[in-house]
Amino acid sequence: YQSESPPLNLNHFTHSSPIDLSKLKQLASESTSRYAACAPLSSIDGVPISIKANISFPPYPASASSKMLEPYIPPFSADVVQALKAGGAILVGQTNMDEFGMGSATTNSAMGPSINPLPHLHPPASSSPPNLTPGGSSGGSASSVAWRSSFASIGSDTGGSVRLPAAHTNTTGFKPTYGSISRFGLIPYASSLDTIGLIAPTPSDTKLLFDVLRGQSPNDPTSIESSLPPSSPAPLDWSTISVCLPSAYSVEEMPPSVLHIWNETAECLASLGSRVDVLGDDVLSSSTVRTSLAAYYVIACAEASSNLSKYDGVRYGSRARDEAVNYDEEYSRTREEFFGPEVKRRIACGDAVLAREGSHYLKANILRNKLRDSLNTALEQFDFILIPTQTSPPFNLDDPDVKIDQNEMMSNDLMTVGSSLAGLPSISIPVTSPSGPDFWVGMQLIGRHGDDDRLLQAAESLY
Ligand code: GLN
Repeated sequence: YQSESPPLNLNHFTHSSPIDLSKLKQLASESTSRYAACAPLSSIDGVPISIKANISFPPYPASASSKMLEPYIPPFSADVVQALKAGGAILVGQTNMDEFGMGSATTNSAMGPSINPLPHLHPPASSSPPNLTPGGSSGGSASSVAWRSSFASIGSDTGGSVRLPAAHTNTTGFKPTYGSISRFGLIPYASSLDTIGLIAPTPSDTKLLFDVLRGQSPNDPTSIESSLPPSSPAPLDWSTISVCLPSAYSVEEMPPSVLHIWNETAECLASLGSRVDVLGDDVLSSSTVRTSLAAYYVIACAEASSNLSKYDGVRYGSRARDEAVNYDEEYSRTREEFFGPEVKRRIACGDAVLAREGSHYLKANILRNKLRDSLNTALEQFDFILIPTQTSPPFNLDDPDVKIDQNEMMSNDLMTVGSSLAGLPSISIPVTSPSGPDFWVGMQLIGRHGDDDRLLQAAESLY
């Protein structure tokens, strides 16, 4: 495993997360003893895992990479943290993210951007490696896995936050069915969309983690029962599996090189024996896909403005330094001083959509239902949906001409928000092709509600 010591600081871990090697060695030796006694605590005993900064993991602050929560040390551990510890995993540190999960490049962190490790792992011979973004919002998590400073990472995915960074860093990102992993201890962004998400090198590594974390928790009323499949399930019979490629996702922003790799992946599935067909506009229309992005941002911002209203400087985290004449002034000074610009923009947007008569929030939910119905109809006819995870390459932070435009960044999420709005499980796996684009691409498989095990099995055969 690589340490992140200077001179290369890729900013994958939060500032409060210096790696304590002696403690890690101690945990590793305890795990080794358990294996020697043939009594590992679980299939992830001894595995080094990092945790995104919006998951309660004391003694680290659950800062969500925001100045607002920088001093907040949660008094309890998230359910996922407890489950990992009970399974003997070695929790190596806390990873950087876009503030409160709002972003797609990990450039919106109060702790500065994380750097995509891939060019630094294979530096060009003649020049210094470019500093590219790793995708977001779980960019620190995905980068720590790609850089091998953790084997796997626990992130969160509201609209693509583990799948997009996984695609940009050549790792696997899995968003399970909504509710199948407890969110107790996850700092909320948009509650009807938030899920715990997993990043690991391969789908089978992901499956080991998922089996330790899945299931209903009394602490999270939105969690659902998810029974473990048999320990050695029958292999997938690809001749019984069907996969569709929705034409509505073949959007104009998608470069021909990504289209090409999408088709190559489909051919690969067909060569495994699967039936592969294009899904027409009659089942999932282009306008339903297009409007899903707007619906996502209306819903996410509305729920965020409500979830973030509790940060008033009184109950949690930071408080404005200057004396205020009354509580209202104190709240607004605190929020002005400690929220970053993108978070303020989204709160303002969320307040506006909730305040309008005939609320945009309700209209967005009508569009959400339409999309969910279309995706479920497609999944009645097919076992899986296959689409690319992203349309464009990561941003280059060294390029003075590249101005990261938040709206352009939002348009990147078109490929990932659909399964989030519909609550469906979805996995991004890294694909490479000699004829593919000159950036790393992920392909997403989307499965039926609750069909996470078969989805992971299918992804593993495709990997
Ligand atoms: N990029 C999306 C957003 O900013 C998704 C982020 C996420 O899944 N947390 O909302």
